Amino acid sequence: MWSQRSVVDYGLAKRATVQSFRAGRTGARDVCDANPYLLRAARYHGESTDRVCPICEHRNVTNVTYVYGDELGRVAGQVKATSDLPEMAREYGEFRVYVVEVCQGCSWNHLAVSFVLGTADPPGPSL
Ligand SMILES: [Zn+2]
Repeated sequence: MWSQRSVVDYGLAKRATVQSFRAGRTGARDVCDANPYLLRAARYHGESTDRVCPICEHRNVTNVTYVYGDELGRVAGQVKATSDLPEMAREYGEFRVYVVEVCQGCSWNHLAVSFVLGTADPPGPSL
């Protein structure tokens, strides 16, 4: 496998959003706002999970994985399969991966986690 660096887990922010929704402080329209591109990416390139959507509690969420980095050129901003990442991690020095969970039922979407992959250490002070 590959080693993930600078991992940022957005679980806390996600829980806060879900709690706010359940408490009625946030409307479904505010949390279920996946744009057409994201929904399309989820449908055609997403990876299904066994996690039930926290909002509609009806469908399982789909993971959509984006890659960003100066080295990536045209690949930056593209959706990738998790299985593509090990090869990219060997090919590039550094790029960041963002995993967004999307519900194709109610359009809930939230950043789940992001991390850095690549052959070299990230520049600047590491955590
Ligand atoms: Zn949902």
